[in-house]
Amino acid sequence: MKVVLATHNAKKLAELRRLVAEQGTDLDILGLDDVAPYPEPAETERTFEGNALLKARACRNATGESALADDSGIEVDLLNNMPGVRSARWAGHGASDRQNLELLIAQLADTDPAERTGRFVAAVAFAAPDGIEHVLRATMEGRLVSTPRGEHGFGYDPIFVTDGQTRTNAELLPSEKDAISHRGKAVRAMLRWLADREG
Ligand code: IMP
Repeated sequence: MKVVLATHNAKKLAELRRLVAEQGTDLDILGLDDVAPYPEPAETERTFEGNALLKARACRNATGESALADDSGIEVDLLNNMPGVRSARWAGHGASDRQNLELLIAQLADTDPAERTGRFVAAVAFAAPDGIEHVLRATMEGRLVSTPRGEHGFGYDPIFVTDGQTRTNAELLPSEKDAISHRGKAVRAMLRWLADREG
């Protein structure tokens, strides 16, 4: 089956192809640079699931192919689950990962380290031309530290320590993080669902 992943991000495409190969699922993965351009929707929903579904539906409708899309971010308990769906633009539109990270560190200054709990969340949505849709989410629970550490990963990885670890996500090897990450778990669960459906 051919599936278009609604992203221009080469790393996300490579990651999905790696996970497809790992599971032995028979899927031919294309990205948005492999299909005719279409107007991509703004991420206007209040939930990760809503935004993932919005992107998968727009891709399915424009390409006529089965589509997958994801949405992810970080929820901080002390901030009532923000930045949430606004994680990528927490310090404003066009903000860099570094600016978003520094704003979050500043917002958590003067808080009790024991209370700085939170999680990464990823939603993955599938939409097929026959109207079948499926969306699921996975999380990576942990806590935030006030001093960034590590060179791997991206976004908020340098200040996030997942449960059971002493290293930040940015100090984990990419393969170590992939095995336990919110996105890795959500994508693997979706691939299992797709394999059962094809079954
Ligand atoms: P998007 O799902 O590509 O829109 O990304 C959402 C934003 O959430 C990213 O820009 C990061 O700031 C943050 N984020 C999502 N997943 C991760 C992760 O695994 N590590 C660090 N930051 C992440």
